[in-house]
Amino acid sequence: MMENNFLFDSEGLSEEALKRKHKLENDPSCRTDHMKYMDDQEQIKSDILEKVMAEFDSYDYSAYTVLDVSRALQKNTIGVEEFKALLSPAAEPFLEQMAEKARIETRKHFGNTVYLFTPLYIANYCENYCVYCGFNCYNHIRRMKLSMEQIEHEMKVIADSGMEEILILTGESKIMSDVKYIGEACKLARKYFRMVGVEIYPVNVEDYKYLHECGVDYVTVFQETYDNVKYETLHLAGHKRVWPYRFEAQERALMGGMRGIAGSALLGLSDFRKDALATGLHMYYLQRKYPHAEISLSCPRLRPIVNNDKINHMDVGERQLCQVLCAYRLFLPFAGITVSSRETKSFRDGIVKIAATKISAGVSTGIGDHESKYTGKENTEEGDEQFEIADTRSFDTMYKDMSAEGLQPVLNDYLYV
Ligand code: SF4
Repeated sequence: MMENNFLFDSEGLSEEALKRKHKLENDPSCRTDHMKYMDDQEQIKSDILEKVMAEFDSYDYSAYTVLDVSRALQKNTIGVEEFKALLSPAAEPFLEQMAEKARIETRKHFGNTVYLFTPLYIANYCENYCVYCGFNCYNHIRRMKLSMEQIEHEMKVIADSGMEEILILTGESKIMSDVKYIGEACKLARKYFRMVGVEIYPVNVEDYKYLHECGVDYVTVFQETYDNVKYETLHLAGHKRVWPYRFEAQERALMGGMRGIAGSALLGLSDFRKDALATGLHMYYLQRKYPHAEISLSCPRLRPIVNNDKINHMDVGERQLCQVLCAYRLFLPFAGITVSSRETKSFRDGIVKIAATKISAGVSTGIGDHESKYTGKENTEEGDEQFEIADTRSFDTMYKDMSAEGLQPVLNDYLYV
């Protein structure tokens, strides 16, 4: 177990760190250029960013009318214009029709299946300063990095529950959780699970290639917000501050040989309709350029976090979230849609029948606490949780609940031959 942290002394945040934090928050001129790649960040040739941002910048959702929405709903194929109409406020009164159309589309492509997976946080060290996140480098939380032995132990506990897919997560610290460490964890995961995903800091193509060789099937990266001006004010320091490098992460992952990618904005950080448009288009252009790739969308909304009263999440209610998910389904009929345990049981039970195809179960966002959560056995060495979850159902309960809803829970649909 390693001791936290670069910025803290026995009194808490060191005086020097405190000054630096204050400056970052109050003096934009001392912050680095968030559009400029750092020396170790690879720049790829791609026109996807340009295409997405041209639509993002010109999207005026208030210009869409009920007539536009009604026309969109009559179409068999939803194009970019129709997608924009379906995300607009004018579509809110049509929510039931959108849900019914989305339900038919989902069943057409996915039958009545719902995929189950669980996340495993292996470290919570982070070098970034994202003002809305409990793991940020200026937050005094219990930091932890699991040893390979501890990781294997956690994996065994999860695998024993019956789960076959795992998503490995770290905070974003290249120093404390380097690519080799993550790769070794993925090799272990391959022993216990049939599908392995990672949600880690964005890396270069060569590193994605290495992680794929270690057994990773897919990569999830959240853009947080596609509004790069807002992004600059929320990500004040660290590698993550570089907005275009993050944007291109999924494409680099595919160039590194990954089978699938997932992404999204964190809805509520900025204007959620524009962020939802950009998320859908980002995945749409990736799908067109890499037709073989398995593309998934997520739909996280801001949740309350520890030690941070700085940010008020903007209001994305369940109706709005449902509208966004139905619009995603109609625009990208084949894409997977994941709904995390940040959402409530009742919302998740409803949305898996309409648009979502994948949900997490047996979730803990803390470090090293699966054993205590799964078995009730006490563990005094646990790292803090990144955010609160709303749906705490175990794998077993989730499996039974999904079956009772008339759905077929699927643990894995891929065979290595
Ligand atoms: S959102 Fe991710 S990168 Fe930002 S502080 Fe939290 S863990 Fe670190």
